[in-house]
Amino acid sequence: MAITKVWIEEDCIACGGCEGICPEVFTVSDKSTVNEGVDLSAYESEIEEAAENCPVSVIKYE
Ligand code: SF4
Repeated sequence: MAITKVWIEEDCIACGGCEGICPEVFTVSDKSTVNEGVDLSAYESEIEEAAENCPVSVIKYE
């Protein structure tokens, strides 16, 4: 499955984990945001890993 969209739902606790796993896609300040203009298909395994490891399960993708 190709990932074409990544988003962060409410209640991110800004732990920094997603940026640690994939800084090319995620930037965390007061909360996590998805970087614009990224070729998501190049980071699919990292996006899946970040979503699996998010402590509050707010990273979504499709
Ligand atoms: S891993 Fe989850 S809780 Fe942590 S900064 Fe990323 S989105 Fe937020």
